[in-house]
Amino acid sequence: LRFILNCNPEQVTPAGKKVAIIGAGVAGLGAAGYLYCKGYHIDAYDSMPEAGGLLLFGIPNERMPKKGVLEGINQLKRYGVEFYLNKAVQDELLEEIIESHDATLIATGTWKARQLNVPGVDLQGVMLALDFLVANSLHDLDFSSSGVALDGRIGIIGGGYTAVDAALESLKWSKDVFIFYRRTISESEARCELKALKQKGVTIYESTLPKSIYGTKKVQGIELWDVKFNGSEVNYVPGSARNFPLDYVLIAIGEDRTPPYRGGLNGISTVDGKPIVNDRMMTTRKSVFAAGDLVNGPTYIGNALSSGLKAAKYIDEFLH
Ligand SMILES: Cc1cc2nc3c(=O)[nH]c(=O)nc-3n(C[C@H](O)[C@H](O)[C@H](O)COP(=O)(O)OP(=O)(O)OC[C@H]3O[C@@H](n4cnc5c(N)ncnc54)[C@H](O)[C@@H]3O)c2cc1C
Repeated sequence: LRFILNCNPEQVTPAGKKVAIIGAGVAGLGAAGYLYCKGYHIDAYDSMPEAGGLLLFGIPNERMPKKGVLEGINQLKRYGVEFYLNKAVQDELLEEIIESHDATLIATGTWKARQLNVPGVDLQGVMLALDFLVANSLHDLDFSSSGVALDGRIGIIGGGYTAVDAALESLKWSKDVFIFYRRTISESEARCELKALKQKGVTIYESTLPKSIYGTKKVQGIELWDVKFNGSEVNYVPGSARNFPLDYVLIAIGEDRTPPYRGGLNGISTVDGKPIVNDRMMTTRKSVFAAGDLVNGPTYIGNALSSGLKAAKYIDEFLH
């Protein structure tokens, strides 16, 4: 993966201005590459021990080879993009960064996994799938000494990319992996990947939802229901309840935005954490732009990258 695309990196004329990027996922890295080519000094801040965001820490190696992502990041480092890692930006630090740069791009994504609202989510063996994936990526990349090892029967609730990747990761530990999806495979954004999982032995129960997770201290299973949709309203099919024994439950029902500001502070106006941006991707704070999943909600790699590149183009125009 290359983020420096539009120039010969050896022949860039310095523009004498500094841009900060907060959140070095694909949106932030794409913007960094574009702005590097325009001659800006780039300071990139990220809360993880390496840049790359979900490409590196969310999606397992089988689907997103880490080597290629790291090569792209290392190229940026080699050409002088400064990375400040393990640096969670909030409030005061955000203010300092904005004040000390000519422009700032915020691209901190959607890292807060949603919790399922059913009894039993506190039992041992229930985990947020994104946390499971991140913990094991940190381990695989040698940033932590232990990952999360699972065995026995693993159930995954959800049917999007996170569910797919949680299933792939689970297959490393167990052959008994089940997905429970409230809709049908053909309705999922990850329909091709779900079909491929079936070939690998994962059983997918479509149009099902757990009403509770049972067990004493540890998970013993889920109470599973068939469901039907009436618009966005979910209806449990009467008489369809049955117990499904499981040892682990991984929840993959979506993610919420993780902005580096608290509502309205730093002059950045938001609606439910989503920064309000104008048609040039500038927030309500002058010189501060936003891009990627933080603005669009969880979408696709291509969307996040093009959003980062678009913001970078507007930043360049703003700095002229
Ligand atoms: C498990 C999973 C699998 C996916 N699979 C696919 C797929 O197959 N195909 C596809 O097209 N899309 C897929 N997606 C979606 C895709 O990965 C995202 O849309 C895209 O990566 C978002 O890029 P981003 O740069 O906006 O955010 P991210 O990649 O999330 O990057 C945000 C960065 O901000 C950092 N950060 C967060 N908060 C702070 C803070 N306070 N201070 C500093 N840094 C911070 C994070 O550490 C992270 O590096 C998947 C998503 C998930 C979760």
